[in-house]
Amino acid sequence: MRDGKAMKILILGAGAMGGIFGGYLKNARCEVVFLDSWAEHAAAINSRGLQLEKPDGTFLNIRALAATSPEDLGPEAIDLIIVFVKSYHADQALSGVKQLIGPETRVLTLQNGVGNGEKLAEYVDRDRVYVGGTAWGGRVLGPGRVKHAAVGETYIGKLTGGMDGFLLELEKVFRAAGIPATALEDTDSVIWSKLIINVAFNALTALTRLKNKDLVARDEGRRLMAMVVEEAVRVAEKKGIALAFEDPLAHCLEIGAGAIGNNTTSMLNDVLHERLAEIDVINGAIVAEGRKLGLPTPANEVVTLLLKTIHNTYGVQIRPDMP
Ligand code: NAD
Repeated sequence: MRDGKAMKILILGAGAMGGIFGGYLKNARCEVVFLDSWAEHAAAINSRGLQLEKPDGTFLNIRALAATSPEDLGPEAIDLIIVFVKSYHADQALSGVKQLIGPETRVLTLQNGVGNGEKLAEYVDRDRVYVGGTAWGGRVLGPGRVKHAAVGETYIGKLTGGMDGFLLELEKVFRAAGIPATALEDTDSVIWSKLIINVAFNALTALTRLKNKDLVARDEGRRLMAMVVEEAVRVAEKKGIALAFEDPLAHCLEIGAGAIGNNTTSMLNDVLHERLAEIDVINGAIVAEGRKLGLPTPANEVVTLLLKTIHNTYGVQIRPDMP
């Protein structure tokens, strides 16, 4: 609560993660509005509410305004914008809400990959940019329907590092909404530790069309994973980032065979549905960061170029039913 008033939160991108976070926050009586360019989804939320399926199979019905244009949101100042569009839509989405960013508006990203906070800093003073990572996950089931599948910790921090009153307040707001959150002075370790896992699985499963467990069950899969992970770890080490696991490759192999074995990564889903993938902020980010540091990252570069070739050529790819 700010001066006795509920925090007014705009969820920018009301897909899987936006729907889940926005849903829990609204359910805890935060003032939440959604903005999403998918008109059918927004219309369904406005007419029937957002149907949020919880991990235990129970449902929340969330009544909140879902707009497709910032003009529909009214003039009231927004305290916090949580960005949950895919990274490659961030520019388009943020330039669309410029007029809603007031002098007190904070912006938070919990998107996967690295560089998302820097992107926000192009639109809002960097002291008001908040970053982090979440183990929560889920997917859109259809217009107005999202499923919350994965639970775990959410870590939040400032892009500039350090702590402030807003961050502590946000930690409280998240916890009150049932989102286990921890405010940290330095989120680099959290963001990079999650990045390593995304580097290990996302592009390789998208390229091979395998579930995580089927990738790590094969010698070729494990060797590919070792190549991309070892490069990413060298980049993290040279940046002075302490990762959350002692042996990152062993950790990835272990969770691939166990905890996240049955998952299909978001990047595999993106390729299967012929959408763009967030390759530039994951394996592509390792290549870019490595270049800055003078570290070669050939495995990540090959994987990035292959994935980009695929997601840029859906219209001309050969299919078995072609003459
Ligand atoms: P999603 O595709 O389900 O949702 C994105 C939403 O953004 C869509 O509803 C889309 O219509 C909307 N959108 C696109 N362009 C827009 C624009 N210009 N303005 C407004 N809305 C726009 O994606 P998601 O799975 O929720 O992922 C969102 C972010 O969260 C990604 O960066 C992803 O890496 C990260 N993430 C996802 C998960 C997961 O399990 N899904 C877990 C952790 C982090």
